Amino acid sequence: MQNNSTQAKQILILGGGTAGWMTAMILAKKLNKHGFEVSVLESQDIGIIGVGEGSTPALKAFFSSMGIGEEEWMPECNATYKAGITFDAWSTKPGFTEYFHPFKFRLDEQFSQAFFHSIQMRRQGVDIPAHPNPFFLSPLLVEKNLAPIPHYNFPFEPSYGYHFDSGLLGQFLKRRSEQLNIRHIEDKIEEVLLDGNDCISALVSQSGAKYHADLFVDCSGFSSVLMQSALKVGFKSFASNLFNDSAIAIPSEIGGNIPSETRSTAMKFGWRWKIPLTNRFGNGYVYSSNYCSPEQAETELRRDLGLLDSDVQARHLKMKVGRIEKHWYKNCLAIGLSQGFIEPLEATALFLVQQSAALFADAFEHGQFTDTNQDSYNDTINGYFEGIRDYIAAHYYTNSRTDSQYWLDCQNNHDGQSDTLKHILEIWNKGADLTAELRRLGVTKYYTSVSWHCLLAGMGVFPAQSQLRPPYPNETQVNMALINDFLHRCSLNFDPHREQLGKFTNKKG
Ligand SMILES: Cc1cc2nc3c(=O)[nH]c(=O)nc-3n(C[C@H](O)[C@H](O)[C@H](O)COP(=O)(O)OP(=O)(O)OC[C@H]3O[C@@H](n4cnc5c(N)ncnc54)[C@H](O)[C@@H]3O)c2cc1C
Repeated sequence: MQNNSTQAKQILILGGGTAGWMTAMILAKKLNKHGFEVSVLESQDIGIIGVGEGSTPALKAFFSSMGIGEEEWMPECNATYKAGITFDAWSTKPGFTEYFHPFKFRLDEQFSQAFFHSIQMRRQGVDIPAHPNPFFLSPLLVEKNLAPIPHYNFPFEPSYGYHFDSGLLGQFLKRRSEQLNIRHIEDKIEEVLLDGNDCISALVSQSGAKYHADLFVDCSGFSSVLMQSALKVGFKSFASNLFNDSAIAIPSEIGGNIPSETRSTAMKFGWRWKIPLTNRFGNGYVYSSNYCSPEQAETELRRDLGLLDSDVQARHLKMKVGRIEKHWYKNCLAIGLSQGFIEPLEATALFLVQQSAALFADAFEHGQFTDTNQDSYNDTINGYFEGIRDYIAAHYYTNSRTDSQYWLDCQNNHDGQSDTLKHILEIWNKGADLTAELRRLGVTKYYTSVSWHCLLAGMGVFPAQSQLRPPYPNETQVNMALINDFLHRCSLNFDPHREQLGKFTNKKG
């Protein structure tokens, strides 16, 4: 980038998957006005990965920033609303075999004190109810098959993510990118030319065409054609923290009701997702190939879905889990699977795409191309990868299943715990103030204290039942009946999920 913003006029993005188009739109929106041109080069022969059907609430912010309404994109991508994720069968502890991880809803602040207080008491050995679900509205909406969209006069702002067909989302973004004057090139890159400073000077295609640019963005997926293959930027594997390296995906039919949640059910050698779209369920089994073969995984998944005799095709995928050492290096930026991947348990990949692109666009817009800024950008993005990894790894360490060596090894994988995660678990087990500690560690920007409490309480990480004592008469206890009554009355402000989605069609008609 040569520390001079006026030289950088052409931005060439290699890759037209979701990462490529989202990045193109984010960069073009910010930088077109400063005289930059954005192009996306992709190869239909190579294609896109075509999985990844769940998001965090960050996707809502992306569409809002592009001025694209839900009524425009959701019907075109068979999209549904997502209030959060149910984790099912990860824990075998009585009363904790299932819990919900909600997205942060303004309403939840009403009961956050009660939530933290009850959990704290149980962590300190008092026998009181401390399952997270009854403190939140979202699991109740999911139980009642309601969409997380309140009637107009409901005073609390909701927070939700989406489920979508990833292929259709890519096509939608591609169409919309035309409005931002993003150029589309169909070609296949076979060679990357470097100059004497080890910067990329051009991409050479199979037809011999040479593509020059001031900034190259690697959105080429797991193959990481520019950053890892050409520039030889190192890759830090997360294999010691997270064992899963494979996945298999199979669609299934959806019935009358559309759930407003992703379901993550623990399996013998990993977990499976169940994601509702308007026209089907997306299902997938994420597992470790060190413990089970693709055939075993396919049979286990098909059996669970009742599809053992069905001829519906299954897709087998390999996952490279970890991150590159530098996401912005020389005149290249890597975004999407080319920069790394944390397994899809919390559906965070597109969030990382957005963050990576938006933070870079900010730096770019302000002409901050010094080495220090590159370093600080890389540290920030690495922080996101590791913060999210730790939260996901905690699900595995705290499982209590004993039905396979896989789950026992996950529980005993102490070497795979980062120092931060070890510390968080120690604080939790001691019964000390976790919120204060998470803030001190600076990790609440990745997952909030509510998320950590939901995870650890939801898994039933409490003193054993035999060690709990009844509450003393002078100990304040939360009136759960009151919360329950309030939340039930709140839920009357929400419509059934299918009905809510039908409003888009009615509007069109
Ligand atoms: C099992 C699984 C489940 C997932 N679930 C989720 C989820 O729930 N939520 C979520 O947010 N994410 C999820 N993801 C991640 C998600 O799929 C990706 O982050 C997202 O699809 C973006 O991918 P991408 O654009 O980086 O790569 P790709 O989709 O692989 O796109 C790569 C692009 O580069 C192009 N290309 C590559 N090489 C060349 C070349 N030599 N010449 C020209 N073009 C080239 C290809 O043509 C393609 O256009 C999941 C991933 C996996 C593996």
